[in-house]
Amino acid sequence: MEKQKSIALIAHDNKKVALLEWARFNRDLLSRHLLYATGTTGHILATELDLEISRFVSGPLGGDQQVGSKIVEGVVDFIIFFWDPLESQPHDVDVKALLRIAVLYNIPVACNRTSADFLISSPLMDKKYSRIVDIESSYPSKAAPLKIAE
Ligand code: PGA
Repeated sequence: MEKQKSIALIAHDNKKVALLEWARFNRDLLSRHLLYATGTTGHILATELDLEISRFVSGPLGGDQQVGSKIVEGVVDFIIFFWDPLESQPHDVDVKALLRIAVLYNIPVACNRTSADFLISSPLMDKKYSRIVDIESSYPSKAAPLKIAE
């Protein structure tokens, strides 16, 4: 992971205000990184905070899957995902898939505000970091050679 992280921001509907407040508080720091977001979350953050954000489609339309594929490609390496623990989503399976891929690829993920505060205030935010992705040794014979762009 480079000094400049590629951060994906996602919030379920009931968590969008919380993410917006958090992002407003951390706007300067966020603006120093490359930002990605699912459709509606990205629209809100870009218009309210005047941030440059690459947007995927909305989560229920496949946005979470797009974030997952960017992790596999080595493009996205950091996730702030305020998901809603009190409401089932039409795309629950996509959410689960995204979280699984994030763990598999050893991506830092914050799923609530406190975790996001701790992650973003880490001294590692401002440094290069060698993220270990040891998939081939735990999944030896079946995996095709893995190439991660760091
Ligand atoms: P949204 O998607 O930003 O388009 O609302 C987020 C999600 O529901 O995963």
